[in-house]
Parts: sequence; C-alpha cells; structure tokens
Amino acid sequence: MNRKITIAIDGYSSCGKSTMARALARRIGYVYIDTGAMYRAVTLYCLRSGLYSGGKLDTAALEKGIGGINITLTHDASTGGIITMLNGDNVEREIRTMEVSTHVSEVASLPFVRTALTEQQRSIGRDGGVVMDGRDIGTTVFPKAELKIFVTASAAVRARRRYLELQAKGEKADYDAILRNVEQRDYLDTHREVSPLRQAPDAVVLDNSELTPEQQDAWLLARYNEVTEGK
Ligand code: C5P
Repeated sequence: MNRKITIAIDGYSSCGKSTMARALARRIGYVYIDTGAMYRAVTLYCLRSGLYSGGKLDTAALEKGIGGINITLTHDASTGGIITMLNGDNVEREIRTMEVSTHVSEVASLPFVRTALTEQQRSIGRDGGVVMDGRDIGTTVFPKAELKIFVTASAAVRARRRYLELQAKGEKADYDAILRNVEQRDYLDTHREVSPLRQAPDAVVLDNSELTPEQQDAWLLARYNEVTEGK
C-alpha cells in the first residue's frame, strides 16, 4: 500500500479548489481540510461578537479572545461534505455569506490569527493522509508537502461560479458584487505581509477556466498517481 502523503492545494478565491480537493480526498481515502472555512469561522466570530464597529475591527479584542475560539471540521456522512463548527455551533452555511466573504481577507491578514490557525492545521495534518486547501499550504503550512497544486482561473469565470453556487443554495446573489469581492480578495491575499498567496516554486499549476469538474478530477488524480507511484 502507498505511504500516505500530504497534498497542498492553493490558489485564488472561488476557483474550485475545495470541490477538487474534497473529490480527491474521498477517492483516495484521505482527510479533507478546508482552511478557508477556518478563516471564515474566525471572521464570523468577530461579526457575532460585535468586534466590528463602524466597519472597523477591534483587533486587540480579537487577539485577547482568540484562545477561546474553537473551530472543528467534522465529516457530514449524509452529504459527504464537511461541517464547520464554531464553539459547538454548526456555522457551515453562515460562513459562506457575502458578509463573511467581505471581511475574511482582513481577518486573515492578522499575524496572530495566521499563527493560531497554522498551528492547528499542522497538528491536523501531522501524520499525512490529508488534502488541505487554502492560500499558504504549500508555502507556509506544509512547505514539504509531496504534492503541491496551484489553481487559477480568470476572475470572471470564478465570480460566475460563485454566483451560480449561491443561487443554487437559494441565496441572494449579485454578480457584480461577487466579482468585486473576488478581485478585492485576490488583491488582499497576494499583498498581505504574512504568508501572502504565492505559487510555491515546486507547485504544479492548474488553470481550470476551461475544464469540467470531471476533467479536473482526472487531472488531479493523475498528479497524485505520479507522485505516489513506487512509494
Ligand atoms: O478558500 P476561501 O475562499 O473560503 O477562503 C476565504 C479567505 O480566507 C481567503 O480569501 C483568504 O483571505 C483566507 N485564507 C487564507 N489562508 C488560507 C485559506 C484562506 O488567508 N490558507
């Protein structure tokens, strides 16, 4: 049997990283970790706890309270997906709203937030056998991951995907607002000081603008097989 490796999938917002990461994890029997959900849960905590006032985040209060934020990702047997829990509450739906999307990159730029979540991600993936998706997995969280993928697609394609996703869930969706959000997060994620979104030098690039989900899954499985052959 193959030795279990670590698979890091990084890339821009809304480019289908989580869908492909989840599908691969299920196929090869690995644990799937959505690190964006963790940053989103911290953001929701800030919004719920009134740490935003007049659009400004009270970072000192967040730093003080961060030790009391408990985030867990549990497997949902009925859908095969992941449920994000924030201090015992199922927040899977709430963390995907536009309100959270609007604030998340600011929260994710705070060094103490990154330190806390990076530590937790390393601990979850300590023994390998994980497919982890995010922005800094191959560069910071697991720089020695055996397989690193960097996913990209045009901002318009990504905004359209998120628009359709929200619509399918019966949520309000405004294409122009989503496109602005995608572009704004791209900017903030690539320009922050700590662990900015960067392609690791040893990552394999996937531009999936023109690929169907099936083609994308097959491409990823082929990369996994290449790396694990003979291990
Ligand atoms: O992947 P998703 O779009 O849900 O991530 C939400 C946000 O969380 C990103 O735009 C980014 O600001 C932040 N993030 C991060 N590092 C990660 C994962 C997500 O900074 N590893």
